[in-house]
Amino acid sequence: MTFEQLNLSAPLLKAVKEEGYEAPTPIQAQAIPAILQGRDVLAAAQTGTGKTAGFTLPLLQRLSENKSNTKKYKIRALVLTPTRELAAQVAESVKTYGKYLPFSHRVIFGGVGINPQLADLRRGVDIVIATPGRLLDIMRQGGIDLSALEILVLDEADRMLDMGFINDIKALMKPMPKSRQTLLFSATFSKEIKKLAATLLHDPVTIEVARENSTVDRIVQQVHFVPKSGKRALLTHLISSNNWEKVLVFTRTKHGANRLSKQLEEAGIRAAAIHGNKSQGARTKALAQFKSGEIRVLVATDIAARGLDIDQLPHVVNYELPNVPEDYVHRIGRTGRAGASGEAVSLVSEDEMEYLRGIEKLTGEKIPVSPESDAPAATASTGSAKKPAPKESRSDTSPKQGRRRRQKSKEELAAEVGSKILEKLEKMDKPKKKRR
Ligand code: AMP
Repeated sequence: MTFEQLNLSAPLLKAVKEEGYEAPTPIQAQAIPAILQGRDVLAAAQTGTGKTAGFTLPLLQRLSENKSNTKKYKIRALVLTPTRELAAQVAESVKTYGKYLPFSHRVIFGGVGINPQLADLRRGVDIVIATPGRLLDIMRQGGIDLSALEILVLDEADRMLDMGFINDIKALMKPMPKSRQTLLFSATFSKEIKKLAATLLHDPVTIEVARENSTVDRIVQQVHFVPKSGKRALLTHLISSNNWEKVLVFTRTKHGANRLSKQLEEAGIRAAAIHGNKSQGARTKALAQFKSGEIRVLVATDIAARGLDIDQLPHVVNYELPNVPEDYVHRIGRTGRAGASGEAVSLVSEDEMEYLRGIEKLTGEKIPVSPESDAPAATASTGSAKKPAPKESRSDTSPKQGRRRRQKSKEELAAEVGSKILEKLEKMDKPKKKRR
């Protein structure tokens, strides 16, 4: 399949060629023809699949087919995204792919002044890429007219629902014409998404490029069992001993992100934190420094990291597991993008076993345990003595039982990932025996 075979117009083909894309990704091959036919689309596609071009290219072509002049306040296409970063990235794609077309676009989100946004809409804009909250503010002030909207895109719709944007989205939809084309993209097909799709979409083409809720195959996943108190040292060790140059590290809280980035800096590893309490300027700066290699580690919370498109990101570390299993899929989707391979390492302490279980249940796959990792029982024995073992845990409670358990997981590993890992495990065990 080539981009030419998708019947894209010459200005779009030229822009795509300049980006160096050789062939459409699976989501593009399926979504582009359906969107060009004017169909509504419900697509399950994770970040890294090329979904942004999957909707942006046909959106631009549809706008150029339906001749219309830019009008004050009235926009022709709207892309709603959960976060500012994602809005900025989609806008970047609109600019890139639309560079040989005459359309104007505007990105709209909170945390920055509203007046320039209002002024641009007054002058007239064709395509708006926005987060729901700020756009609703603007609509309520009469700053935008959605009555002539031709195409609505909901990008990362599952995350918008998670973030509680459903009522804002419903309010924004009220003035939109029924005849519009609607495209809904979501990383996962949850019940809520299916319900939302049923109310928004008309006879949609359903596209799924990966197994439901599956993690991306080319990402190598690994779990390290480690006591909470040992996480920082393990992270520093992993970064230094493996010479990782660009690592995205996830923490559960903003405070945790700040603290860890400070500790890494103190350990001589250039790091910065990115989360919702940081100003837009600080977030943009941290991301730019990370992309340019000025800082080596970006410590992020889930919401802040959503939508980050960082080319060549080989390592993601879950310093803490997310308590929402879907977030794990989103997190590790930051790596292994667009054909590149990636590695996702999770540092799991005793109190996070439930989260690990939830993740493995969602993805339907057992995450291999690092050969360097302690067995879970070892974390219990070296961790805080006061901490009771969780009711349900992968680990047993006595060191003896723990050893038995470790043997078992080796066998499981061997069955899952083949003899290479087993060989490594054997090698690792040998010197230990000598030391004893
Ligand atoms: P997305 O899933 O939309 O966030 O895209 C992930 C990355 O894939 C972006 O860096 C795009 O520039 C890149 N990309 C999109 N389409 C293609 C393609 N057909 N071939 C190679 N890379 C692509």
